[in-house]
Amino acid sequence: MSAIATLLTNESYLPGALTLAHTLRSLGTQYPVVVLLDETQVSDRSLQLLEAAYDRIIPISDRLVTSPVDDRLGRPELAVTFSKLLLWNESYDQILYLDTDVLPLANVDHLFDEGAALTPRQIAASPDSGWPDIFNSGVLLFKPDPQVYSDLVEFASGSDSSFDGADQGLLNEFFAGNWHRLPFLYNVTPTESYQYVPAFHRFFKDIKILHYIGQIKPWHSSTNIDHFRFHHLWWDRFSEFFDKETK
Ligand code: UDP
Ligand code: MN
Repeated sequence: MSAIATLLTNESYLPGALTLAHTLRSLGTQYPVVVLLDETQVSDRSLQLLEAAYDRIIPISDRLVTSPVDDRLGRPELAVTFSKLLLWNESYDQILYLDTDVLPLANVDHLFDEGAALTPRQIAASPDSGWPDIFNSGVLLFKPDPQVYSDLVEFASGSDSSFDGADQGLLNEFFAGNWHRLPFLYNVTPTESYQYVPAFHRFFKDIKILHYIGQIKPWHSSTNIDHFRFHHLWWDRFSEFFDKETK
């Protein structure tokens, strides 16, 4: 069995986690949707909502992995994203990992067909828009494996394991040379510094997954601002979820 997984270590990403699970279901995924959760950092009400939204909650409070490397991104909150590594220790055939701040626009179950050919030493991911020779770690497809897990954990404990201090720098070092490149359409990252607007117009209908990278997430702002960054699409999905929940 394969699964779609995310990571949630505190309440500040809860709207993303709930909207993600809701959106995957609305788009008709056939796969279980699971969350690595620091269960000590969310309220009882949040836990209830997560239990309803996810097929499985994997508690990780007693085994969080944090980066030993200096924060080089100016994003100290990302040290805990090393906890993504715990997924390599789960017994699924394949895992499609999605950050809580992504918004699928289409069903992406077919990615598991592509993942079938991967070895456990490989990873499939889309190029990073800031540095396209490496992958962005918000959308990852891989085959969990206990040996790779222990190698990853050992690698992660090194004082220079991540060039950015977060999981993206770590995973790109570890899987260097073993990266299977997915199209950018599976992890499109609109930011204010993104220059190539005509490409958005040309390819928008083909986008499979939007990813709201950076410190300001859609749930931090109101629905109708930031039109270029497509926050309104996230709010449409969040509102669907919210209306259903409060009916
Ligand atoms: N995350 C979390 N709690 C935190 C920071 C990060 O749960 O305090 C998780 C969450 O799934 C988030 C992911 O780690 O989407 C990566 O962080 P973020 O998406 O903010 O990084 P960016 O995509 O902006 O580089
Ligand atoms: Mn993200």
